[in-house]
Amino acid sequence: MRMYDIIHKKRDGIELTDAEIRFFVEGYTSGKIPDYQASALLMAIYFKGMTENETVTLTDAMAHSGDTVDLSCFGYMSVDKHSTGGVGDKTSIIIAPIVAALGGKVTKMSGRGLGHTGGTVDKLESIPGFKTTLCGAEFINQVKNIGVAVIGQSGNLTPADKMLYALRDVTATVESIPLITSSIMSKKIAAGSHNILLDVKVGSGAFMKTAGDAEKLATEMVKIGKSCGRNVAAVITDMNTPLGTNIGNALEIKEAVSVLKGDTKNDLFEVCVCLAAEMVSLVFGTEIDSAKDKVLDCIESGKALKKFREWIAAQGGNTDFIENPDGFGKADFSLEVISYKEGYISQMNAEEIGNAAVVLGAGRAAKTDKIDYSAGIVLNKKTGDKVCKGDVICTLYTNREETLKTARDRLLSSLKIDESSAPRTPLIYKTIR
Ligand code: URA
Repeated sequence: MRMYDIIHKKRDGIELTDAEIRFFVEGYTSGKIPDYQASALLMAIYFKGMTENETVTLTDAMAHSGDTVDLSCFGYMSVDKHSTGGVGDKTSIIIAPIVAALGGKVTKMSGRGLGHTGGTVDKLESIPGFKTTLCGAEFINQVKNIGVAVIGQSGNLTPADKMLYALRDVTATVESIPLITSSIMSKKIAAGSHNILLDVKVGSGAFMKTAGDAEKLATEMVKIGKSCGRNVAAVITDMNTPLGTNIGNALEIKEAVSVLKGDTKNDLFEVCVCLAAEMVSLVFGTEIDSAKDKVLDCIESGKALKKFREWIAAQGGNTDFIENPDGFGKADFSLEVISYKEGYISQMNAEEIGNAAVVLGAGRAAKTDKIDYSAGIVLNKKTGDKVCKGDVICTLYTNREETLKTARDRLLSSLKIDESSAPRTPLIYKTIR
């Protein structure tokens, strides 16, 4: 078999065979196929797409390109969640203990922040002592004992995706539905959970900018996950405006605690209830309204918060911040961003707000940058809210004082204030089961 013929075939829109796709994945991962030929094939896929059979084979080949996690000891009870990435998205930290408190076995491997979007691993590492690396046996035992463990992606999981994603990043081939599908689903398949909930974000702060594209991606990922023998659902949720009020690692942990205590009932709370109910429904087959009632009761009864404390302690985290959140992750410097006119906020570009948080130190501009866990933004106003001249729209926090003015300018440029109010985009667009 020759890579030249495979590129030629895909260029002409002819379906590739299983053997050809596996030859490509194995050859590229082992270094036998050079970057220039892999790039040419990725570009051909970008233009010609892939059939469902091709995408299933690509996903399977990538999932088995390295180690896989065996969660068979949990039968059909293991459950994982993946978000395609957003700003202020701390839903995993809230949902994981809720689903565990309701009897699910939450086995989650999370990522770090990428560009303007935050990552669950960085957020959890803002808790003093919290360990995001556990060996295989520790991971399994913790899930057996308390029903939840969340770690970073470790070891030799899906090396094909690591290599192909890096290549796509520099060859303008990221935005391809079969390539995104195989990238995300191969990691989820290798991570071993039987049940997988996908939160596909749509809007200015997301990969998918339109509801149509988000639906195509969600539908494809659910189909491919099912073809690989997993129980999968996807919820398409809004990312035109940051989720909740807090953006930045320790600030997001604080907001998560407030939701788990039942003190915060905002857009973040609503999305969390919807996603947690979908996970409960996937694991137990519960009808969705009844699953929602169980989730709400889990928060109101304090069971979710109790499980959260247990989980943080099990991974070595100091739990003092749960009772005393005020002193947790305090930054040395802050700046209030003031409204320059009266009107209604008609737009809060989530990507630009995420970038302002990165400027403050909440994310990394380069892979090697160190995160300032206290840095971030607390929003007083959100899209649709009325503002008067002089109102505080948000407060910026950082330990790097010199970043405040640049971040403020970026934040102000992300906003549109109009004379009349405009409706907010829907929070939850659609569920695909
Ligand atoms: N996230 C991934 O893991 N892969 C993609 O291709 C896009 C987003």
